[in-house]
Amino acid sequence: MLSLNDLAAKLKEIDGRGYKAYKDIQGCYRSGDSLLYIDFIQGDPFAPPSRVRVRVPMSKAGLPAFLYQERRQTALEDLLIRYVKRNINSHYKAQPGLKKMLMIDAGQQQVLKRSSCKVTPDWVEVRLKVELPAAGRRILGRQAYEILGPSLFGVVEEAVVFNPQRKQEMSEWVYLFEDQEHIRQSLPDLGLVAFVANGSILARISGNSDLPLPNAVAFKSPPSMEVELPTIHHGLIKGMGLPKGVSLIVGGGYHGKSTLLKAIEKGVYNHIRGDGREWVISSNNTVKIRAEDGRRIEKVDIKYFIDNLPGGEDTQQFSSVNASGSTSQAANIMEAIEIGSDLLLMDEDTSATNFMIRDARMQALVAKEKEPITPFIDRIRSLYEKHEISTILVIGGAGDYLDVADRVVMLDAYQVYDVSARAKEVARSIESNRLSDVKDDQLKYRNRIIKKVQLKNSSRDRVKVSAKGLHTILVGQEKVDLSGLEQLLDSSQTRTIAECLANLERYLVGRVSFKQLLDSIYEDLETDLAQVTSYKAGVHPGDLALPRKYELAAAINRLPFLQIE
Ligand code: ADP
Ligand code: MG
Repeated sequence: MLSLNDLAAKLKEIDGRGYKAYKDIQGCYRSGDSLLYIDFIQGDPFAPPSRVRVRVPMSKAGLPAFLYQERRQTALEDLLIRYVKRNINSHYKAQPGLKKMLMIDAGQQQVLKRSSCKVTPDWVEVRLKVELPAAGRRILGRQAYEILGPSLFGVVEEAVVFNPQRKQEMSEWVYLFEDQEHIRQSLPDLGLVAFVANGSILARISGNSDLPLPNAVAFKSPPSMEVELPTIHHGLIKGMGLPKGVSLIVGGGYHGKSTLLKAIEKGVYNHIRGDGREWVISSNNTVKIRAEDGRRIEKVDIKYFIDNLPGGEDTQQFSSVNASGSTSQAANIMEAIEIGSDLLLMDEDTSATNFMIRDARMQALVAKEKEPITPFIDRIRSLYEKHEISTILVIGGAGDYLDVADRVVMLDAYQVYDVSARAKEVARSIESNRLSDVKDDQLKYRNRIIKKVQLKNSSRDRVKVSAKGLHTILVGQEKVDLSGLEQLLDSSQTRTIAECLANLERYLVGRVSFKQLLDSIYEDLETDLAQVTSYKAGVHPGDLALPRKYELAAAINRLPFLQIE
């Protein structure tokens, strides 16, 4: 076993030499009981950074077991990552150049399962990226030792070695996460699809900032919808329970409708204390649906919504490389249902009008036989009544929807009112005069079987799959655009999705349906995020976060080389 002195000696020896000589420091070094693994060395100063791990034995870390039992583990790991990040920032405050070179993938407003920290009963491991320092292409050995030497152990150990003074903060952190999960799991038994606690702050600073808007109007449930949910550590929590069924969010423009819907959409994730959305919890199977002109569709059965196209195309196996607003929205719904969604969220702002509604006048002018689209308004009830798929819909303009709603909440200057009774009255007294456009009431969707995912180019080389920011995955020369996925949160999730895509063929053994494919990928992801990757055993990608099934499925559905049977 090598020591830090050995590392110092090696770095001294290669100081000033060409960058490639950094390869010499690959290996494992001991400092006290802790280990530094230098797993991967970048090829040149501008290549993706090097990867290292620091492993601290639990005998030294001394983390009480209750902090990482069962689902608390994800929360504890997330917190330790934040501690490491904070330590890096404070340790290198006076050396911003060095600070930039040491990176850990940490969470922001939400807590996700991440690969940058792993806690086991035997050890805690922190995975970091390092840009090994150079002057031009010459190795800066002394600087490298300043990053990789004792100070790295210090930064990590200070974070992961249990400090009794932090016990309260740490338990509160894991208890919050546990109760958020607890509420989410109890929603179905309570007949609810979403919950928004009183006092929540839903508005964000801006479109680009996920931080709470200062001085925002706090959420308060209308009395008729107030429920009290029991928790394990936080007593009863009061707020608005949104029952299964069809719910509308109405109100004037700029009164906070989309803000409420967006909070529910992100309620599939657990938020950190102080975020304002800690107790906004929605069903695990919530999928935000929108129109997404231009997306690719591969043999999706959208007949439930679109049939009798003038070109005679088969809408039971509808494919397109450039879908329209309505076909894309229909495909988004059918694909969500295929994976098991039980709650669809839609905002009129981002929906295709002709997909949502055909009013009485249009029905009079254009015969039913001439209109391929069965608008969502004519499906929304049977989706719920026959298939238990609920919808929450933001509606500002299309009042015909009052006929199909189980409840209607109104936003007025950011305050929520239950206007269900009044809405019924309005629907009765002002008739919409529209007729149902339903032709055939059968919701059919195939369990699509994946024929092939062609990940080789014309010269039979494997194409490279890589994530670029939050919303783009490059597959060879092709771009997979994920900007329609409003519940994709973190570019580390996108990286995981890219890894899954790159290694998809591994999971395509025999005849595999879409759903089976996702289940088998998730079995691996939930065991260990690295399992889906092609990294060598031991070498750990420290920059992955767990995506949801729905976003992974959406990326596969948009793959240029996907072929469905
Ligand atoms: P709508 O969808 O009804 O047109 P939005 O949800 O887009 O309205 O909200 C309009 C603006 O009001 C946004 O800038 C949003 O951040 C802000 N806002 C929303 N809810 C609140 C609130 N509770 N307190 C303060 N500002 C809010
Ligand atoms: Mg809006």
